[in-house]
Order: sequence, then structure tokens, then C-alpha cells
Amino acid sequence: MQLDDHAEELASDLGVDKEEVKSDLENLLQYSVPIDEAKQSVRRKHGGEATSSTPTAMDVADVTPDSGAVTVTVRVLTKGTRSIRYQGDDQVIREGQLADETGKISYTAWQEFGFEPGDTVTIGNANVREWDGEPELNLGANTTVAMASDPVEVPYEVGGDADLVDLRPGDRGHNVEVQVLDVEDRTIDGRDGETDIRSGVLADETARLPFTDWQRREELTEGAILRLEDVYVREFRGVPQVNLTEFTTVATLDREVEAVESATRMRIDEAVSTGGLFDVEVVGNVIEVRDGSGLIERCPECGRVVQNDQCRVHGDVQGEDDLRVKAILDDGHGTLTAVLGSDLTAEVYGGGVEKAREAAREAMDKDVVSDEISDRLVGREFRVRGTLSVDEYGANLDADAFAETDDDPADRAKRLLDSLPERGVAE
Ligand SMILES: [Zn+2]
Repeated sequence: MQLDDHAEELASDLGVDKEEVKSDLENLLQYSVPIDEAKQSVRRKHGGEATSSTPTAMDVADVTPDSGAVTVTVRVLTKGTRSIRYQGDDQVIREGQLADETGKISYTAWQEFGFEPGDTVTIGNANVREWDGEPELNLGANTTVAMASDPVEVPYEVGGDADLVDLRPGDRGHNVEVQVLDVEDRTIDGRDGETDIRSGVLADETARLPFTDWQRREELTEGAILRLEDVYVREFRGVPQVNLTEFTTVATLDREVEAVESATRMRIDEAVSTGGLFDVEVVGNVIEVRDGSGLIERCPECGRVVQNDQCRVHGDVQGEDDLRVKAILDDGHGTLTAVLGSDLTAEVYGGGVEKAREAAREAMDKDVVSDEISDRLVGREFRVRGTLSVDEYGANLDADAFAETDDDPADRAKRLLDSLPERGVAE
């Protein structure tokens, strides 16, 4: 809308001369007052009521990626601190979620505004950008933050305490109380060259998740029971991973944490719909053993499967024999590919690489190995536990355990019930 149109609209609303309104507006715009605020101001001057829906002050639920700059009065739910590399410089940012009674929204603050979880604040002139299809508030140099006197009541938990089962990639500023189950130290190529990290597995009463500590803290030892404050979650190989940064605080807990022992048992369709799970168990029939199973060759450099001694990264290599199974598993609700490594494959095949090599040599055909495996698996029901990743190529369950189901009648009855179509609720 042009200035002329704004003036026209205002003048007719207020019943005053258009030229007078226009000159008032021009005056305000000259001082960089946003047009919407300028119009409100001119309305007030001419005794008009401010419009009920002030465009700059919004309910969180009404904020869209197209909202431009907005003002919201919100409760701070979470606040995480992280250092990112932005245009070549390290910059400390704060991230988390804000909410009012209508909804919640993520934010990124490019400077420290001093608010903490639980505070109610009026955030003026925050820019809305789109992140992952959702609106997100950007608090920058032009943003104002003022403490509000009355707390905004919100239907959400304030503060970052979370159960592992509820963590999702992208979550920030969370606190978890966990037991460390597994620890491994590694050196990786980080953004600042070689970086010593510690990774492993954490558990609480609800789930187990992998973690990475970018500071390699001594406190994270096997069996330690800890409260970790200000962690963030990112997706790594298709599953949520808990990340400890330089801003994360670690404290020993003086209570027990009943770390979950067993994997979550799920229907295949439900497991696949989560987009990836760290430790899950499914039960299904093997309907096919896929190509690329049996006796295979791997690149000695990187471990990738090679064909005709050609690695797609390392070119000409002398491939090394290995065993693998890729089995399609179906539970009547969905399918996935269970991937068995060397050891599990040797178990189902009934022998290791040596035996497979011998059989292949005798038959002058490598396929005898996968045929044998196929005979042993197809048509039988197995319980498979492992890490599920889902991408555009499909759902792969990287198996840690693979066993034929026993004939427990209770188990079978439960599976039968599960496979029946769900009955609709009577109206
Ligand atoms: Zn390679």
C-alpha cells in the first residue's frame, strides 16, 4: 500500500481531511516510525480508537513466517546457549521456546537479553523467519525486551527438564537426569581441526539415547548418575543424539536412575513413522533376503561395500571379504530392512567368513552363501533389536540382536490381537 492509500483509508475512517492525515504520516515516517505505528498514532491524535488488532502486537498462534516484524508478550519456556560459526566468526547464541496462552514458538537470540526460563517478557520488533517450515523469532540488535509485570500463564511446562523419550532433533536448552551406560573416546575432524570428544549411551527411566560430549568431561564415566543442564539434540545417523557443549553443566545426582534395560517394542509402521529410533525392537517375518547379502567385499580403507574391487571413494582397492544380511522384515503393518553385520550373519549362516569362502569356492559361485541364508530365514518370524534410520532409500534397522521368536503363546496371542483391524469407537 502506498502512503496515499494509507492516508485515504485513515481519512475516511476518521472523517478528517486526507491532506492533513498524509502530512502527519509523512512527519512520523521521516523519523523511521513503522507505518503501522504511525497510523495508530495519527488515529489517536484525531480522537479515533486504536484498532483492536494492532498489527505489531500478536498472539503467538497468529505468527506466521510472513508476519515480518512482530511484538509478543510471552513466557520464556527454555533457554539454551550455543556457540556457532556465523560468517567465519564464532558467535554465542541463545535458543529455546517462548509461549503465550495461544501457542509456543522457537527463538534465536543473537545477543544476551538477560531473560531466563519462567520470565514473562514483552519482545518488541522481533523478526520472523521460517525454519523447517515453522515460524521462528529472531531477536537481534533492533529487538527490545522488557520484563512484564504480570506473568503470562501458559499451558506448557516452564523450564527445560525433559525425559529422554521426549527429546527430538532441534530441541535446545534441555536438562536431563541420566545414567551413563557406555563411553568411548574418539578424535574427530571438527570445525577447528582435530577435536577430542567422548560419546556413548545415556539412559533414564524412559529411553536410551546416544550422546556426544564435545568437551570430553571426566565426569561422564560408565555408571555415573548425572544431571546435565543445557543440552541440545541433533539428528545423527537418523536418530536423536544428546549433545553436551561448553555451556552444558554436569552435576552428580544423589538419587538412583532406573535406566531402562530393554528396547521399546513397536509396530514396524509406527517405528518407521518416527523417522528414526536409537534402540527399538520389532517382530516380523523375513519375506526376502535382499541382494548384497552373504559373502561381500569391503574397502580396507573405509569399510564401504565394494564391487569388482572398486570403492566409490578410494577407487581401485583390494576388497576384503565380509559377511552381511539385508533381510526384509514384515509385521503385517509395515516393512523395513534388517541389516545384520559380520557376527550376527555368522550366527544365522552357521559359520564365519572362512566357511563362506570355502562354500563359494566349491560351488564357484558366491551366491550359494546368500541362498543358504535365505533358506534359513525366509518365512520365519524374528525379533530384531537395533537402531532404526529412515531416509529416502527406506527404513534400515541396524541390528544388535536378531533371534527367532520363541513359541510363547501369550506373545503370539498379543501379536494376533495387534494385527486385527482396530475397532471404531461407537458414536
Ligand atoms: Zn573406500
